[in-house]
Amino acid sequence: MRNLERLRTGGSGSKMTVGVPPPRTPSGRVYRYSPKEDAHPRHFLLGEVNAKFTIVDAARSRMKLEPRSPQTVCPYSGYVGLDAEFNHPDDMKAAVELVKHAAMSDVEEMLASAFKGLNNRSSRNSLVRIEAKVSSRPRPKPRFSRRDLLREMECDHCGRDYGVYAIALFCPDCGAPNLRLHFSRECKLVGEQVELADTLSSDRQELAYRLLGNAHEDVLTAFEATLKVAYHYALSQRPEIKAKPVKNEFQNVDFGRDRFSAFDFDPYDNLSADELAVLRLNIQKRHIIGHNLGVVDAKFAKQATDAKIGETVHLIGQDIIQFASIGQKVIDRLDEWIGGTTSPKPLNPPAPVPDGPAADKKDNQQMSGHCKVI
Ligand SMILES: [Zn+2]
Repeated sequence: MRNLERLRTGGSGSKMTVGVPPPRTPSGRVYRYSPKEDAHPRHFLLGEVNAKFTIVDAARSRMKLEPRSPQTVCPYSGYVGLDAEFNHPDDMKAAVELVKHAAMSDVEEMLASAFKGLNNRSSRNSLVRIEAKVSSRPRPKPRFSRRDLLREMECDHCGRDYGVYAIALFCPDCGAPNLRLHFSRECKLVGEQVELADTLSSDRQELAYRLLGNAHEDVLTAFEATLKVAYHYALSQRPEIKAKPVKNEFQNVDFGRDRFSAFDFDPYDNLSADELAVLRLNIQKRHIIGHNLGVVDAKFAKQATDAKIGETVHLIGQDIIQFASIGQKVIDRLDEWIGGTTSPKPLNPPAPVPDGPAADKKDNQQMSGHCKVI
């Protein structure tokens, strides 16, 4: 039983216990799957722990679990269960296949060895000659590969590396709220897009404008999605609150505020009047770029004092960074609301807001300025 022995984890006599470690991605992460059916999209990856990470007491107070415990937290729903509950069904099937393969290889080796003895004993001169052959083509050992995900995180509370497919509310290891960390990751990517646009030469301004437009859109998409995820989580915690399905209310400050008022909570309550005005202006700007090819309409011209109807809306990198920073401030507030306490260290201090809401007064040639998001 040479092959099965390699998988042995215990047992004795005819009862052998075998174990197969779950497959890992090239980065060494293990695939996990939430047992909660409504925890869309259920999949996530759990990586190694940053050995240099020090856990501070303030961070520990926000955790659901002692880090590195034999339990896992669903990053999407907050459900806590034993590690084994989070095994991915495909990995379980893969493990069974590996054990089957090892057992079959052992049986074939035993039969080949037995028949070799039989063939040796069978005399070449006898009238009846029996020759036995074990006919088997070597089967390739099953292999399973995993691809890494785009959203790679390291919990800023416990130092655990993980990957998620969608916005996650909690660290799968310690269960601390990671909503703020998640949005910060989005902002980092947006900052990189802005930097990329900044590297383009003056004869490629059309492409630069498009890149900045996409980065600007990404901020609103991430902001809206994060508000939505937090709102749905809040609803799941308060089933007595009945709500209509969410459409695009979180693209609008007032509608979003109205949704959260059911919980006596205002996610915008830590923004100054200027920050709120800049946020509203950028949301409006997004609609102009996305739905009006960037051409200023009457409504936008009224909001932005320097925008003229029919002109292309100004879009510079610094505006995008500022939009992301104000969005981060709102998400920080949400994270604090979900966790019950403020996170120990501000990840992403907001960029200073200029006087008044007209944040797009800068020269179009300025492009990105300096990216402060990270
Ligand atoms: Zn953690």
